[in-house]
Amino acid sequence: MIAYIERFIHENDSESRPNDDEEDQLPNICHSLELQGTIDWVATGLAGKDFGGMYTCEPLALIRPASSDDVACVVRAAYRSPNLTVAARGNGHSINGQAMSDRGLVMDMRSTEGNLFEVVRMNGETFVDVSGGALWEDVLKRCVLEYKLAPRSWTDYLGLTVGGTLSNAGVSGQAFRFGPQTGNVAELDVVTGKGQLVTCNKNENSELFFGALGGLGQFGIVTRARVVVQSAPDMVRWIRVVYAEFEDFTRDVEWLVTRPEGESFDYVEGFVFVNSVDDPANGWPTVPLDPDQGFDPSRVPRTAGPVLYCLEAALHYQKTDHPSTVDKAANSLLGRLGFIEDMKFQVDVSYVEFLLRVKHAEESAKGNGTWDAPHPWLNMFVSKRDVAHFDRVVFKRMLKEGVGGPMLVYPLLRSKWDDRTSVVLPAEGEIFYLVALLRFSIPCPKAPSAEKLVSQNKEIVQFCVKEGLDFKLYLPHYQSEEEWKRHFGSQWSRFVERKASFDPLAILAPGQKIFKRIT
Ligand code: FAD
Repeated sequence: MIAYIERFIHENDSESRPNDDEEDQLPNICHSLELQGTIDWVATGLAGKDFGGMYTCEPLALIRPASSDDVACVVRAAYRSPNLTVAARGNGHSINGQAMSDRGLVMDMRSTEGNLFEVVRMNGETFVDVSGGALWEDVLKRCVLEYKLAPRSWTDYLGLTVGGTLSNAGVSGQAFRFGPQTGNVAELDVVTGKGQLVTCNKNENSELFFGALGGLGQFGIVTRARVVVQSAPDMVRWIRVVYAEFEDFTRDVEWLVTRPEGESFDYVEGFVFVNSVDDPANGWPTVPLDPDQGFDPSRVPRTAGPVLYCLEAALHYQKTDHPSTVDKAANSLLGRLGFIEDMKFQVDVSYVEFLLRVKHAEESAKGNGTWDAPHPWLNMFVSKRDVAHFDRVVFKRMLKEGVGGPMLVYPLLRSKWDDRTSVVLPAEGEIFYLVALLRFSIPCPKAPSAEKLVSQNKEIVQFCVKEGLDFKLYLPHYQSEEEWKRHFGSQWSRFVERKASFDPLAILAPGQKIFKRIT
């Protein structure tokens, strides 16, 4: 189907019509755009919202491209226009409007999700070519069910798009071993801000390749990614052990992530929880993996503080492995850890079930209304040097009553991150921690307002700045160029040069608020 823009302008729908200036531009754009996909000037509601639920805006149109050519065609039209911007929207799971374009064009990349799925074998390695708009959960299912293959590095939740996580980093409990998702792609097809479709990898058009990885959508729209895959296990032993002291937790979790290859768990994460039964979102009940496994508080030492720590690990195995082999492998690692005696929970689940574990949380949050309520989340990378100080002040004092959802804290290794990508990490040391405050609040008058929670996030960031902690925001969100400059630090000039090369008019991803459209 060929969709001409003008067909979708509803003459008598004044609310959805562009303003006068923008309308002046339309005839030019209309004549140049012949898309296979569709353009919607009216039902743009989806494009003006995101998971954060705190920002809304009014885009000019929501475009559902059918192919990379459509994506390129739209960006070229914006490039020719005096002031249009284009935001690629993955699954809109940003928190602060990053996938929005106020009075600009929003491209719903999910309309391309089914375009591509191809296993590629090259030089002894295996990859899967997927669309930038594909959801990771679909990539998982197709890889495992059709080929018994799987990507190596994941996010905890898989209702996110390939292009969306690659524009940030994409981390979970496998990243200590394989690096973030941005370190597990061999090639990209990218539509630049000039509307050119470019294939790039570490040898060819490498500046664009590394720039786009972690590039917050600033240099191009990813329409294809070649993702490294490996053979998928059948099963996972999923384990949680509890600590009273942060020092013991960090000692063990750091030991696990620095073991030689093949001598640790396949997944290592951790979280902080409230030392209380009363909090269903953050307290004791959140730890057991099976409803039959109760949390026995009498085991928690009396000296424990207001929060406790849980180390979460997983071991892959095949159905054909003898149970005693799996027990032996798990127990030989667990035997070296200093968690509270008998505070161990474990279940055996299929690999796919393990990777889709957050789906259950999504379903129950949808049921109780917390999925659609605002999510003032804060994600950071905190250097190992300062993480104990962070724990003392932020977890033990400021957040001792929890955040209504998970408070993740787990280590990552700098050597697994390629510094040619656009991702920004803390300045010092090999080990840094991901800290994620994933706030959920039941929409009720008693719950603290989103504004209050946002200001608590600000307080946390201000504390880090004031105390000179070595940290960076992950999934960063700033309003001014000064703040972005500080965020990128010594990488700022490279970021600006890449912008000038690949998106010189600053058309792309305006919702990140890094650069202003050049008119
Ligand atoms: P969107 O929010 O739609 O877009 C994000 C940015 O990327 C925007 O600037 C957009 O313009 C740009 N963009 C989107 N698609 C493309 C493309 N194809 N090409 C170029 N730019 C593009 N992150 C982790 O690392 N680990 C986790 O475990 C994790 N868990 C999460 C769980 C939940 C419930 C949620 C809501 C988020 C989680 N995240 C996690 C954060 C997530 O990685 C980011 O929010 C990501 O941006 C969301 O992907 P999306 O596809 O919805 O992107």
